[in-house]
Amino acid sequence: MKEACGVFAVYAPGRAVSHLTFDGLYALQHRGQESAGMAVSDGESITALKDMGLVASVFDERKLSGLSGYLAIGHTRYSTHGKSDWMNAQPVYCSSPAIPGGFAVAHNGNLTNTEELAARAGMMPGFVLADTGVVSELILQHHKATPEHETVDLTATLAKVLPWVEGAYSLTLLDAGRIYGIRDPHGFRPLCIGRLGPEDAPEGWVFASESPALDVVGATFVREVAPGELVTADANGLHSVQLLEQKTERLCIFEFVYFARPDSVLHGREIHGTRRQMGELLAAQAPVEADLVMGVPDSGVPAAEGFARASGIAYGQGLVKNRYIGRTFIAPDQAARANGVRRKLNPLKENIAGKRLVVVDDSIVRGTTTKAIVQMLREAGAAEVHLRISSPPFQWPCYYGIDTPSRDELLAAGSTLEEIRLFLGADSIAYITIENLRIAVGKADEGLCDACLTGTYPVPVKLRGADIAAQHPESVLA
Ligand code: SF4
Repeated sequence: MKEACGVFAVYAPGRAVSHLTFDGLYALQHRGQESAGMAVSDGESITALKDMGLVASVFDERKLSGLSGYLAIGHTRYSTHGKSDWMNAQPVYCSSPAIPGGFAVAHNGNLTNTEELAARAGMMPGFVLADTGVVSELILQHHKATPEHETVDLTATLAKVLPWVEGAYSLTLLDAGRIYGIRDPHGFRPLCIGRLGPEDAPEGWVFASESPALDVVGATFVREVAPGELVTADANGLHSVQLLEQKTERLCIFEFVYFARPDSVLHGREIHGTRRQMGELLAAQAPVEADLVMGVPDSGVPAAEGFARASGIAYGQGLVKNRYIGRTFIAPDQAARANGVRRKLNPLKENIAGKRLVVVDDSIVRGTTTKAIVQMLREAGAAEVHLRISSPPFQWPCYYGIDTPSRDELLAAGSTLEEIRLFLGADSIAYITIENLRIAVGKADEGLCDACLTGTYPVPVKLRGADIAAQHPESVLA
């Protein structure tokens, strides 16, 4: 699974915001590694730079120095809709006679009615644009109705345009003098606010997908943006308006399991602690006699710590991760993907040999990686391998901003637990229950999206032949 994007925005008079934005994007690199970009305003005009690649390869000192200004937005991208190419890299800059200096948009999520929106924006049928392009086209289309020589406020435009937009989005926008941050009415994807300077005399404001991007620029976490809320920052400070009617919150449960950094704060709690509790609950739910508990790096490690603590079994490292692997080619088949696992992970043979292992991982999607890990541990001499997974079986595709395979490629879809165990070659396997996962996350009933685990989709999908109800008659709409 791959996350769909990281967004960032900063308003900081007197500061070199291109450097702050670089640091913020660097902290959000895990959310997207295909392209990176930023748009910077000096109060009158916007300069944008984006390219394919990691943040550190797209920007250098010379480029950052050329991006002068005191407000900016930035983006790291992994594509879920639209090709992985320069055209679809973000932010998207648009010039509009209705907005002096133009505006720029960056997006995290996935819209579920893109074709309908493209038609509304007057785009040719079949013309494929990434979601951000569709949103900016809608804004431009709205501006076309503005009388010549009149200007419009971007907030007013968003109030008009965003009610048409369905699906998952956390957007940051920029015009010449203001930054904007907004979450969709369900709040699928996270977005938080940070303050630069002291509380009684703020020196600037930051919006980011995750709180470590605030920490790295020296901003103090203020709060999360509410679903449907628009926050703006400009010369008059921070402003908030409930632009869209707030619906039942549906923050992606996989932010807690896998996507967010362990040092991110979501729903008032550090993710590392939430993952450790998943492991503790899993130990109580599915105990096993063993000699060593180990986590699959990186996101399986906190849950493994929790499992060890609750079970009293020793915790140790069993796999070393190569941290210097950049982007590699897309493996063409299962065998090549299995080889890719060996490139990333290598067993610590002395820790493993002769031991009964509890191996804790966050999720199993196709099963290729897990199968290769089990085989690797057995070759390293493990006496037994017991898999404990800190998310329930992944059985349904995501349409809200995560790149997942189709249902027939998901190992858990249509397989019994015993079939999964046999395929993976493990001595035993247990997944955390959805109830226990919700307890760890701190939301026992509503407030989360768990469609890929339960088949209960909170928002209908009407695009690219992906109508959920038609494709998966056994799924339900919340
Ligand atoms: S379907 Fe799964 S991955 Fe997608 S938003 Fe919902 S919980 Fe997250």
